[in-house]
Amino acid sequence: MKNAKMLLSTETMNLGFVQKVEALSGSSVRRCFQCGKCSAGCPMRSFMEHPPNRIVRLLQLGQYERVLAGRSIWYCASCETCSTRCPNKVDLAAIMDALRKCSWDAKGTSKESLVQLANKLFLENIRTYGRQYEMRLAAAFNLQSGKLLKDFMLGPKLLSKGKLKVFHQKNKNMADIEKIFSRIENLRKKGEAP
Ligand code: SF4
Ligand code: SF4
Repeated sequence: MKNAKMLLSTETMNLGFVQKVEALSGSSVRRCFQCGKCSAGCPMRSFMEHPPNRIVRLLQLGQYERVLAGRSIWYCASCETCSTRCPNKVDLAAIMDALRKCSWDAKGTSKESLVQLANKLFLENIRTYGRQYEMRLAAAFNLQSGKLLKDFMLGPKLLSKGKLKVFHQKNKNMADIEKIFSRIENLRKKGEAP
């Protein structure tokens, strides 16, 4: 009993980190009572080393570095099933978003840094072209990840089937797309978006 009290103290919890995640997500981490309904419905559960309910538990126990270093937060598909199922109104999907932001800011603590790189390049592509330009995405990923020949042999096959395009046209609505990115950047500056 004494140990249980110690484990749940705000000091052990690392209250500062929990408060940061709560501010970014707009959801309480501390309210979770470990019923497990979120994990039971999570479609990505089998790919995660920590199921969603354990992510919250690790945060409650101050073990946030394990969360940031793991792959679970990057496998989350943001489907919001967990948030919908939670009987205690814990918005776990928003918490996952906030944790990805924290992992990103921590620069390099995540073992899944290649997932971060892929996310970053994907969004850069959208901002530049208004749609995905797979050839450029693959080339930039291989170059920046140091895996120059990764999936190289797939290229000719995909080209022959018309799945990859050498040249690419920009989306006609680039101004609208730029507005979306700028709006998100402004919200982030104000601390209103993760
Ligand atoms: S469903 Fe909600 S209360 Fe239950 S374990 Fe998941 S986050 Fe916690
Ligand atoms: S939002 Fe993420 S953690 Fe929640 S159920 Fe969907 S995939 Fe799982």
